[in-house]
Amino acid sequence: MKVLVPVKRVVDYNVKVRVKSDGTGVDIANVKMSMNPFDEIALEEATRLKEAGKADEVVAVSVGVAQCQETLRSAMAIGADRGILVETSARPEPLAVAKLLKALADREHPQLIIVGKQAIDDDANQTGQMLAALLGWPQATFASKVIIADGRAMVTREVDGGLETLSVSLPAVITTDLRLNEPRYVTLPNIMKAKKKPLATITPDQLGVDVSPRLKTLNVAEPAKRGAGITVPDVATLVTRLRTEAEVI
Ligand code: AMP
Repeated sequence: MKVLVPVKRVVDYNVKVRVKSDGTGVDIANVKMSMNPFDEIALEEATRLKEAGKADEVVAVSVGVAQCQETLRSAMAIGADRGILVETSARPEPLAVAKLLKALADREHPQLIIVGKQAIDDDANQTGQMLAALLGWPQATFASKVIIADGRAMVTREVDGGLETLSVSLPAVITTDLRLNEPRYVTLPNIMKAKKKPLATITPDQLGVDVSPRLKTLNVAEPAKRGAGITVPDVATLVTRLRTEAEVI
C-alpha cells in the first residue's frame, strides 16, 4: 500500500505573528517556518504503518515555494521515502491544493492519503474534505486512531461527548487530529539519510491545474488589546462591580 502525505510549510507555531501595517496579511519575512504540526502527525502515522508492514511506501507532497524542499526533507527525516514539490510562487488556496493532490493521486495511485486536519496558518480545514470529494473517495476526518485491515480503515474520531468509530473502504482520505499520535524526535542520522532520498519537482501547469486565487483577503487585523486588570479589596466589591460596571451578573 502506498500512502501519500501532504505537508504544508507554515509559520512555526511558536512564532508570535505580526499583522502587516497595511492589513493585507501577516508578515512572514524572516520568521521561522516549519511543517504544519498536523502534517507531522500524519507523517508519523504513515511511517508507523510502514514499520508495521501495512504500507510499503510513504510519499510526502508539498505545494508552494522552493523552500518547501526543506519541509519535504524534514518529512523524509521522519520517515517518508521520497518527496514531491509542486512548485508555485502563488499561495495556493485549499481548492487549488486539493486539485493538485487529486492530479498527483491520479498519477501515483496511493491507497491512502493522510492529510492534516487543518493548516495552522489559514485555519481553513478544507483541503482533505475537498480532496476526498474530487477523488470520489470515502473520508474520515479528525482521526484519533487508525487501524488498517482487510482493505479498510477503522478510524476513531473524537466527537462531542464521546468517540465515534467509522469503517471506510480503501482508497480513502483520512485527516489527523492532535491525539492520533506523538511524532517522533528526528535524529541526526535520519536527517543525513533524508538528504539522499529522491525529491522530484513538478509545476501546477504540468499537472493541468489552475492555481490562480479565487478569494480576496479584504482585511487582516490583530485581536483587540485587553485592558489592564484591577485588584478589588473583597468579594462584595467584586460582586458589586460585576453587577454595576461589567453588567455580567
Ligand atoms: P487547510 O485545509 O488549508 O487547513 O489544510 C489542511 C491540510 O491540507 C494540511 O494540514 C496539509 O496536510 C494539506 N495542505 C494544505 N495546503 C497545503 C500545501 N500548500 N502543501 C501541502 N499540503 C497542504
